[in-house]
Amino acid sequence: MATDYAGAVRNGTAAAGRLQRELGIRDFIEVHGGSIDIFDAIRMLDLPLMLRPLKGLLGAYLSAPVPGILVTTERPMSIQRFTAAHELGHYILQHEPSLDDESVLRRMPNSPEPSGKFQEAEADAFAVAFMIPKWLIAAHCRRQDWITANLSNPHIAYQLSLRLGASYEATCRTFERYRLLPAPTVKRLVDTPPKTMKMALLRDYKPANYRGDVWHLTERDAGSRIDGSRNDTFVLSLKEHGASGFIWDFDALVSSGFAIVRDVREAVDPHTVGGAAIRRVTAVSDDIPRGILALEERRPWLPAQPLTQISLDVDLSGPEQLGLSRAERRHLLQAV
Ligand SMILES: [Zn+2]
Repeated sequence: MATDYAGAVRNGTAAAGRLQRELGIRDFIEVHGGSIDIFDAIRMLDLPLMLRPLKGLLGAYLSAPVPGILVTTERPMSIQRFTAAHELGHYILQHEPSLDDESVLRRMPNSPEPSGKFQEAEADAFAVAFMIPKWLIAAHCRRQDWITANLSNPHIAYQLSLRLGASYEATCRTFERYRLLPAPTVKRLVDTPPKTMKMALLRDYKPANYRGDVWHLTERDAGSRIDGSRNDTFVLSLKEHGASGFIWDFDALVSSGFAIVRDVREAVDPHTVGGAAIRRVTAVSDDIPRGILALEERRPWLPAQPLTQISLDVDLSGPEQLGLSRAERRHLLQAV
């Protein structure tokens, strides 16, 4: 156990990196994109996990009679994921049992513990390094063609947070931790509520509330895994070559459980006649979309020869519910 805060951050960060290497997580993400599946990591370790409503707690790590993790079902997915990573940190770092309440979130990024021990700081450092490692931010920036300076744009920081599966605030705070952005810039980001970014994306579409996340998806997300929640909305912006007769077909979106609530074409350059346009479609989840979503840009009269195809591996069944985690359900489905 560390004896000071800096030591706790070093221990937690090192343990997270070791576990990522052991489980081959980086190799998997570099192929499949998406976020680090903390619940799958817990499954791979055969560590018992219980998802259930917890009174006044976000999660707990228990060590007797056998080690195990509890995570609340009463919170958004980003908080469930962070809590699960924090509890996994307690297990990996062989800590004392811990009942973790809201202070897990308030404590970030640092504050000493009254006990004089640093196990909570170690578990927090483990959680941040495991869920939001610097290499994962870099991988998403490469895929999206963002440079570090772009992260000071709250719209980009918000989209990155969705792809990391982290809360917007936790994502912004890591920019400071990794010295990607200066503290005043991070404060300005944290002070911008995500509702602002959601409203800008949704434009004239007004949802019943702004609790769900709004994913802005483009060709750059092709082939990647989208792990979201039941109330999430997709805004797809795809280049469409209408002048050559190619039109995006969004039937797959509807058959996967989405309802299209807005569909417009925006000229890439209003002065070019007949050039490519951006087809901008807003789709809200009607059911619980899950599975491969394959979209094609093709000539309606020659459907067999699409110009562009993109597929997204979508799972909007979050947050985690009572019972098996999504990772456990996926694993069981693959096994049958
Ligand atoms: Zn704890």
